[in-house]
Amino acid sequence: MHIKRTKIYHSSNFSIYFGNKTDPKPSKAFGLIQTKLQAKSFTVFTQVHGTQGHLVSRKDSAKRTGDILLTCNPGCAIGVLTADCLPIIFYDPNNHACAIAHAGWRGTVAGVAQETVRLMHSSFRTDPSNLQVYFGPSAQVCCYEVDSGFSRYIEKQHHSTVFIFKNKKLFFDNAKLNHLKLCEVGVLEKNISLKHNVCTICDCSYHSYRRDGKSYGHQVTAVSLTEPRHNCSI
Ligand SMILES: [Zn+2]
Repeated sequence: MHIKRTKIYHSSNFSIYFGNKTDPKPSKAFGLIQTKLQAKSFTVFTQVHGTQGHLVSRKDSAKRTGDILLTCNPGCAIGVLTADCLPIIFYDPNNHACAIAHAGWRGTVAGVAQETVRLMHSSFRTDPSNLQVYFGPSAQVCCYEVDSGFSRYIEKQHHSTVFIFKNKKLFFDNAKLNHLKLCEVGVLEKNISLKHNVCTICDCSYHSYRRDGKSYGHQVTAVSLTEPRHNCSI
C-alpha cells in the first residue's frame, strides 16, 4: 500500500478519491472520478443526514436517499458529497468490501458511523477489528463553532473530549466524536486514518458551507474496489 502525494489514495485492492475545490463541480466531475478510480460505475444518492444504507451492485439511477453506501463489487465506485460534513470510508480487507458514510453532526449523533459497521457485518460478515477507516476533509475543531445549546445533542460522557472552549466560544470536534463511536463498536484506533482529515473551513482549497455561506459548493469523496472478490452474491 502506498499514498501518492495527490488526492487519490491507492492500494492494491481499492482506490479512494478525495476531491477539492480545483475539481469541476461534482455533477460534472462524476465521469472524471469514475475514470480516475478505474470504475465501471459511480453512485451517489441524495443525502439526508440520516443512517439509512444501501447495497450498490451497479449504477443506481433511481432517485434514492441515504447516507451510507456499501459494495463488494469491484468497479462499482460509491461516493458522498460534503462541504463541512465528514466523509468516512471503510474497507474490510478480509472480505474485500467497502462502504462510505456521510457524517454531519446530525448523522453522527444518529449513529451513522456505527450503523455502517453494523451493515458491513450483516452484509459481508465484517469483523470491526479488521476494518480500515479513512476520514476525509471536514470542518475541524479549530473552526467549527457551535452555540452553547448544541452540547445537549452530545452524550455527556463525550463533552470533555469533543468540545473546546476558546475565547469564550464553543468549538465541536465532529471527527473525534465519530472516532470515539467507531472505537465503541470495535474498530481499532490504529486502523483509523486521519491523514486526509484536513479542515474545510480554514483550508480554502476545499468548499465549506460555514465559510462560504449560500455560495458554497461541494467536494466528492469516493471509493472503489479494484480486484475481483470471490463469493460475492450481491
Ligand atoms: Zn480550521
